[in-house]
Amino acid sequence: LKNKISEALHVFKGDSKITEINIASSLKKIGNALIDADVNYKIVRNFIHKIQEKSIGKKVLTSLNPKQLITKIVYDELVLLMGKKNVEMDLSKNPSIILICGLQGSGKTSFSSKLAFFLTKKNKFPLLVSVDIHRPAAVDQLKLIAKKVNIPVFSLEKSKNVIEIIDQSILYAFKNKRNIIIIDTAGRLAIDQIMMEEIQRINQHSKPNEILFVVDSMTGQDAINTAQSFSKKLNLDGIVITKLDGDNRGGVAITISSIVKKPIKFISNGEKIEDLEVFHPDRIANRILGMGDIVSLVEKVQEQFDEKRTRKIYQKISKNSFDFNDLLYQIQKIKKIGNIKNIISMIPGIDKYFSFDGDHKNSFKKIESIIYSMTPYERIHPKVFSDVKRKKRISKGSGITLSHIDLFMKQFYDMSKIVKKIHAHSGKETIKNLLY
Ligand code: GDP
Ligand code: MG
Repeated sequence: LKNKISEALHVFKGDSKITEINIASSLKKIGNALIDADVNYKIVRNFIHKIQEKSIGKKVLTSLNPKQLITKIVYDELVLLMGKKNVEMDLSKNPSIILICGLQGSGKTSFSSKLAFFLTKKNKFPLLVSVDIHRPAAVDQLKLIAKKVNIPVFSLEKSKNVIEIIDQSILYAFKNKRNIIIIDTAGRLAIDQIMMEEIQRINQHSKPNEILFVVDSMTGQDAINTAQSFSKKLNLDGIVITKLDGDNRGGVAITISSIVKKPIKFISNGEKIEDLEVFHPDRIANRILGMGDIVSLVEKVQEQFDEKRTRKIYQKISKNSFDFNDLLYQIQKIKKIGNIKNIISMIPGIDKYFSFDGDHKNSFKKIESIIYSMTPYERIHPKVFSDVKRKKRISKGSGITLSHIDLFMKQFYDMSKIVKKIHAHSGKETIKNLLY
């Protein structure tokens, strides 16, 4: 999935604008990649439609290139599809009860012990309870895993009464100071009445804080159907997706949260007890796109660039009133973002007009010291520097050679002139293209 989507986004390389033509083929590829990854086609259709809407004609205030911009739009949409944020479990009661449900083989028993292990690391004292009265081996399986990590398992070997087992386990928890009870239930191979009635009975009796539904990601569309069936009978608090380490396609995560409308809380990606992850939509979206650096770059740029201020700068440039204070403001913004090399090209007016001699940090320093040596009046009246005496004074004050100051002034005037010319000829749009 990851490779296919990044390939699809590569289409934009070198383009300077998102157009209906260049986006169409890319979106088609993204759509196919998602369908291949088991994302429901209706969701894919909506997804593509939304991205198209958001991208075409998008007014870009920072000079992100189309590939960066599309990556961010796709990423945001993916995060939205997967529920935006991680939803934490509610474990406020003592003891809190977590009910685990799902089909046989989905990974309930493994997940129960993984969750218990996860909670011990959070300074909780979990108790595992097996109510699988149909398969005695199920209890043994749970005990075997839990023993390795020293977590107690409660079971009543001879009881065939799930309600009795639960009541006894709660007593046991109180006596042994366990503050979380994880109930691992029996599953069947397919949804059937007996299983659903049993789980409903357990639910009504134990009144869990959390009902987590476990689903095997390898089962594709079936996973969605099963989730829907469980969701109709039980008020699920969250979904756990297992076996994401297999060579499956991860699309289940996208489809399930948008169809069932319940948050995914954990993902399991291996057989070992520590192979459990708290689900974070943003991290998964990053993994799917494999472009975490672009996304965080775009975010940083968006954070630093106040759109209003940037718009003002456009206007100032086009009216030829862009001054040294504006330039200083921009340089300071860039410095906050950090990795200067990457973002230098995103700043209006900077990379295109000011040549930097290799080391950007140093070049900024030069420009800054030049501007700092100016009087407030000079900063907002760039024209006064036609006077050589002023330049000499700045040179002394900043320690920058006169020839460097001349070069800087020339670049600064060139920028304003070119922009003004273009503005006169062909209107605002071109200015945007030139600057951004
Ligand atoms: P249950 O019937 O729902 O209790 O399912 P189990 O917990 O017994 O798991 C069924 C099988 O799936 C076992 O062989 C597990 O080791 C395996 N399994 C569970 N979760 C994962 C996972 O995230 N990755 C992999 N590779 N195997 C898993
Ligand atoms: Mg089991």
